[in-house]
Amino acid sequence: MNAVPASGDRRRHAAPAHLTFFHGPMDCGKSTLALQVDHNQSRQGRHGLRLTQGDRSRAARISSRVGLSREAVEVDGTTDLRLLVRDRWAAGHRVDYVVVDEAQFLSARQVDQLAELVDQSHVDVYAFGLTTDFRAQLFTGTQRLFELADVVQRIQVEVLCWCGAPGLLNARVVDGVMVRQGETVVVADTAPDAAPDEVRYQVLCRRHHVGGQLGPTPTGPGQLTLAGQPLADGQVAVR
Ligand SMILES: [Zn+2]
Repeated sequence: MNAVPASGDRRRHAAPAHLTFFHGPMDCGKSTLALQVDHNQSRQGRHGLRLTQGDRSRAARISSRVGLSREAVEVDGTTDLRLLVRDRWAAGHRVDYVVVDEAQFLSARQVDQLAELVDQSHVDVYAFGLTTDFRAQLFTGTQRLFELADVVQRIQVEVLCWCGAPGLLNARVVDGVMVRQGETVVVADTAPDAAPDEVRYQVLCRRHHVGGQLGPTPTGPGQLTLAGQPLADGQVAVR
């Protein structure tokens, strides 16, 4: 029988590597968790590579709504993720694990590349992404990660619909109205104070996503109305 190696004795090849996928709706704390995992890994003396695309900061960073931020490598649909890691190795850098934020934007081929890094190069991969797009359909990268990941975990940080029910789905809001058609990828934030004709996103429960009901206008003092109380003009009453 093989003894379990002491934690301080773990080398890169000592344990099988894993492809782990964390997913949830917008605002669920996905980028915060990505940075936390990166922090925990690096504290164990491991060396990581952080990847992102279309981060909210519009820069090559992983940034979270709670203010944490770290530099990352910006990838796009043409990036070969195996080559990215192997180039690091060729340059003399260690890469023990890869943290991928915004993993929903990966192509199926790129997810296959991550799986290859895990299986053939023993690199741990932690991917973080949105579950579904604004039409409540799986993103391409998310679907492939569901198919291939060793561990798939829904992020449990609770994000609530305006009605108080758990938020599951992302609504795209254009000019104050929920839309169901358009490009799959339009990067925008969930800030409720976006300019009126800007695209924003809002997390809703399934019932209110189906109904297209965005709830009371969340901006401005005194306008936040609890469900069941009278609503101001122009707001959608939902019971
Ligand atoms: Zn709701």
